[in-house]
Amino acid sequence: MKIAVCVKQIPDPATPYQLDPETHFVVRPEDQVLDDTDRYGIEVGLQLAEATEGSVVLVSMSPAGNLQGIRQALAMGADKAVVVSDPALRGSGALVTARVLAAAIKREEVDLVVAGTESTDGYAGVVPQQLAELLGMPALTFARKVEHVDGRLRIERQTAAGYDIVEAPLPAVVSVTAGAVEPRYPTFKGIMQAKQKPVDQPTAAELGVDSVGAEGSGQRISAVRPAPERAAGRKVVDDGEAHLEIVKLLEQAKVV
Ligand SMILES: Cc1cc2nc3c(=O)[nH]c(=O)nc-3n(C[C@H](O)[C@H](O)[C@H](O)COP(=O)(O)OP(=O)(O)OC[C@H]3O[C@@H](n4cnc5c(N)ncnc54)[C@H](O)[C@@H]3O)c2cc1C
Repeated sequence: MKIAVCVKQIPDPATPYQLDPETHFVVRPEDQVLDDTDRYGIEVGLQLAEATEGSVVLVSMSPAGNLQGIRQALAMGADKAVVVSDPALRGSGALVTARVLAAAIKREEVDLVVAGTESTDGYAGVVPQQLAELLGMPALTFARKVEHVDGRLRIERQTAAGYDIVEAPLPAVVSVTAGAVEPRYPTFKGIMQAKQKPVDQPTAAELGVDSVGAEGSGQRISAVRPAPERAAGRKVVDDGEAHLEIVKLLEQAKVV
């Protein structure tokens, strides 16, 4: 099975993000890291490829920088990467991102597309579903377990109450939840090999996608402001009757 895994390079979450004061876009540093969320997708892709003697191509839309995050993903064992990196993409929203990724994936002619459920920096949680629509494939979302059975994809789809079993024919798009699998650590050999693996870097125009960036997305960030600080919670001092007070508060919050 040939599998495309969508991976995102993001500014290191350990350092506070800087916003451009004029455009309000995130200032994307040269050094970006692999979004932790996408390690689960890579592991799912690698396991399915190993079971079917297939291959894994990473697909990303990222400012090129030094490709540190992509090399981290390649070091886990993926075969190659396609990184759409183009200044024209600045300000692109989720739908433009999905259009660009879909065009890159179409060129690869894959049997399966794997993505994370929600990225760590953007949190839109929509790109995998948009990809499925654009590629004309079924979308299997919130997968906590992914299996390839009799040429079809079967997942356990996480729900509030437990899980549903969902099946679809291939090709399909699946988004996996964090914790679906235990992502492997890159070996020293993997890290060395990653430096030699092919990384194709087409522009959006080369993929035939025009109308990108903020213009193409039809969005404008007019203002940003810090989220209000959370107010301190209420402290209930136990004078022997605190449990009654707590039950009352829980009832008010409709928790019980
Ligand atoms: C140079 C540049 C500038 C950008 N500027 C902006 C901007 O100003 N405003 C803006 O809204 N967006 C911008 N983007 C796009 C942005 O980085 C997000 O990719 C996009 O908005 C999707 O949102 P999300 O990450 O919340 O997606 P989600 O739907 O939360 O992501 C779910 C999953 O989809 C996949 N995925 C999502 N995005 C990508 C990606 N880029 N590459 C590979 N896989 C992906 C991952 O597997 C991820 O786990 C820019 C991108 C580039 C390359």
